[in-house]
Amino acid sequence: MNTTKTALVTGANKGIGYAIACGLGGRGFRVALGARDDARRTEAVARLRSEGIDVFGVALDVTSDDSVAAAAATVAREAGRLDVLINNAGVGGRTDDGAQDPTTMDLDVLQQVLDTNVFGVIRITNAVLPLLRQSDSPRIVNVSSNMGSLALQTGPQMAAYAPSKTMLNSITAQYTRALSNTSILVNACCPGYVATDFTGHNSARSPEQGAAIAVALATLPDDGPRGGFFDDAGTIPW
Ligand code: NAP
Repeated sequence: MNTTKTALVTGANKGIGYAIACGLGGRGFRVALGARDDARRTEAVARLRSEGIDVFGVALDVTSDDSVAAAAATVAREAGRLDVLINNAGVGGRTDDGAQDPTTMDLDVLQQVLDTNVFGVIRITNAVLPLLRQSDSPRIVNVSSNMGSLALQTGPQMAAYAPSKTMLNSITAQYTRALSNTSILVNACCPGYVATDFTGHNSARSPEQGAAIAVALATLPDDGPRGGFFDDAGTIPW
């Protein structure tokens, strides 16, 4: 059996996803770099290769059933199985004109955000689940946000984005229950407030720092936690 582990990272062409790909690649994983745009994917694959990382590109738009099915087929063909899935791809949704004030909510924005941040996670997870089941120590990491914590209710008011992460957390718990009799460990994480295009680079925290908790959850030992929500400091309240 091939002992090199393969990790699929969604939305890995930039930001935290790219840093997660880099971090896992540096730990000996073969990286399946999921990205929806051909040019951005090709450029990111080349950049990782130049850093000595074993990587192949996977065309992947998590909002498209066809793209997701094709992506799963690509991973199957290239690697034969999957050891780690990092559900990182995410969007904030526009906020102008009260689009994410709940009292003036733009329902199209809510739909777009949910389609990527929640439906997208379910689409790709279920498409690659048969490949994860072939791994000895499969891991799924959902990149969430503490803005989705009902207990904390932190960050700016974003009434599409924050609830999308609340639902992602709940979905994480549902997968954990469904997979409780398997070796698949499913966890959610918050990267912290990180300097990426998403935040307008308005933070001192680097993508590498933000990636660290996802990399840690992707490389948990077999007796590691399942169904948790973590950041660098430990458990985040739901
Ligand atoms: P980013 O720099 O905007 O990167 C987002 C990535 O997701 C890009 O690669 C983007 O691809 C991809 N993506 C968006 N829609 C997609 C789709 N339909 N299919 C496939 N890929 C798609 O954002 P980031 O800050 O790295 O965020 C990564 C994750 O961390 C997100 O889930 C976000 O919610 C979460 N997060 C971020 C922060 C933060 O402070 N930055 C805090 C908490 C949680 P394109 O380049 O093609 O658009």
